[in-house]
Amino acid sequence: MPELQTGGHQGYLRIATEEAFAPPELIRAYERILDRDDVDPGFESLMGFYLRSKSERAQAVFRRLQDLGAERLADMDARGIDRQVIAVTGPGTQILDRDSGVAMSELINDRLAEACQRHPDRFTGMAACAPQDPAHAAKEIERAVSKLGMRAVVINSHTHGEYLSDPKFWPIFEAAEALDVAIYLHPQTPPRDMVGPMLEAGLDGAIFGFGVETGFHALRIITSGAFDRFPKLQIVLGHMGEALPYWMYRLDYMHNAGVRSNRYPFMKPLKKEKVSNYLRENFYITNSGVAWEPAIRFAQEQIGVDRVLYAMDYPYQCPPEEVGILDAMSLPPQVKKMFFQTNAERLFKLA
Ligand code: MN
Repeated sequence: MPELQTGGHQGYLRIATEEAFAPPELIRAYERILDRDDVDPGFESLMGFYLRSKSERAQAVFRRLQDLGAERLADMDARGIDRQVIAVTGPGTQILDRDSGVAMSELINDRLAEACQRHPDRFTGMAACAPQDPAHAAKEIERAVSKLGMRAVVINSHTHGEYLSDPKFWPIFEAAEALDVAIYLHPQTPPRDMVGPMLEAGLDGAIFGFGVETGFHALRIITSGAFDRFPKLQIVLGHMGEALPYWMYRLDYMHNAGVRSNRYPFMKPLKKEKVSNYLRENFYITNSGVAWEPAIRFAQEQIGVDRVLYAMDYPYQCPPEEVGILDAMSLPPQVKKMFFQTNAERLFKLA
């Protein structure tokens, strides 16, 4: 494998678009939640591990999450990453109560904006918000984008078991659409009602549970009709679209059958008719955690080469050899440049 370098020697810059951080104040809030008797079981599985395990992997993630300086930059250099698009880690503010979530979203955005101002050529930020208070979330997104220079919004999937398909959250969609920024719908642990049998099998986390829950969330948003109300809204999904591209045929068939038979009050006819039309026109997909050419090619073929982007998933999954594997994909040079660089530049308005 040739040595990885930043600077575009291979014909493109590498822009990693789903990279995580957590300010120490958020870590301390998570510690307090973990100490409670009624702690959410999925959260306990996720953050109980990363904050308290003595394993080398957990400790490295814990340390790197909190760094927005020297160690992160050195890791980027060692992996040939020119720029990170950074968001607060899942579950972000969304495990907190409403008032704490509101205050934390402002702190997160201030902290991330400072880091981006210190390293404007290496870091780009996504705005945090607290969906627990939709009106504040919309205002905070406005502040983070207009005043702090954030180029997208992160939502770490459900908020206390509630989904953005609920119109009470739509001020968030309205703000994102009006500001012309995408929403990165990032996983967190499945809610209490879903996580039980997954936990028992050790499948609640990034291995599978995250993808199932986040893919489900994205589908709920589509079938709710939210995109008919906010037609310009763009949502980014990591992990190869949480497998939704692979599901498209069956989603279209069964959604159509469900609508025609009037089986569910929730499931109404959609303006674009097919679920897949929304996946193709209102979604971007990143390959975070999936350094696998066949899956990337399938998404490019089905969703479009202009809608599939590179992401690493630092610091949770960041082996340098994955960068080499993706560099070696047998894609035309212009498509590889779209994947690693220009799609991100367009979506996050970097160039
Ligand atoms: Mn991630």
